[in-house]
Amino acid sequence: MELATKSKITWCPGCPNSAILVSYRKAITELVTEGKLKIENLVSAAGIGCHGKITDYLNTNTFEALHGRVISSATGIKLGNPNLRVVAFTGDGDSLSEGFSHLLHAAERNVGISVFLHNNETFALTTGQATFLSPKGFKGPSTPGGSIDEPMNPALILLSVGATFVARTYALDIEGTKKIMKAAMEHRGFAFVEIIQPCITFFDTRDHYKEVIEPIPEDFPRSDLWAAIAKVREVNKKVPVGIFYQMQKPTFEEKI
Ligand code: SF4
Repeated sequence: MELATKSKITWCPGCPNSAILVSYRKAITELVTEGKLKIENLVSAAGIGCHGKITDYLNTNTFEALHGRVISSATGIKLGNPNLRVVAFTGDGDSLSEGFSHLLHAAERNVGISVFLHNNETFALTTGQATFLSPKGFKGPSTPGGSIDEPMNPALILLSVGATFVARTYALDIEGTKKIMKAAMEHRGFAFVEIIQPCITFFDTRDHYKEVIEPIPEDFPRSDLWAAIAKVREVNKKVPVGIFYQMQKPTFEEKI
């Protein structure tokens, strides 16, 4: 199975988006090998932003959505054929600024799609403006004096609206990201994975995250919503990564 395409990779050399691509190809390969996925049943969709180029480099069914509209497009694909496994790649600009309401409603409805959010804490494709995930003090073309806002916590937001699978991972941990992607793609219902993805051109946070990333224990109580909420809020000194929450309830497509 060849998952690469002939398209030339045009992300900045060394961009962690390439690591996310590697993790995803590994996740697909293992799921297919284990008999848990048929490649013809997989759709990889993306929104607009640096992350959106990922569909150019994947020899799967793909769909490129308008800015902020990948979640609604993925929902439509899933409703059109519930047998498909639909993965929606998005970014912090794409789904937490532009298309925020689509993300919240799809989570609340438990649409059976996997959402992989590349969190680079900036609008990278348009040269580094602040998003709602940029840290306070972030300097860019739209905030030359430094952002005055505290960043939102996407995992906390998704837990609060009822997402049935919530995880966080670090792009440069390829094996860890692959493992979480596989679990998300096997989840029956709405799966949200925040992938911390430093933008090495406009906001290079690799040194910071190298120090603060901390995997949660394997035996973390994933069915305990309050434990998950407490854990995802611990982002001041260390940044916990792993699967925080998973539960089952009827999906949107089943109810339809
Ligand atoms: Fe990656 Fe940033 Fe370059 Fe975009 S601008 S490809 S996120 S390093």
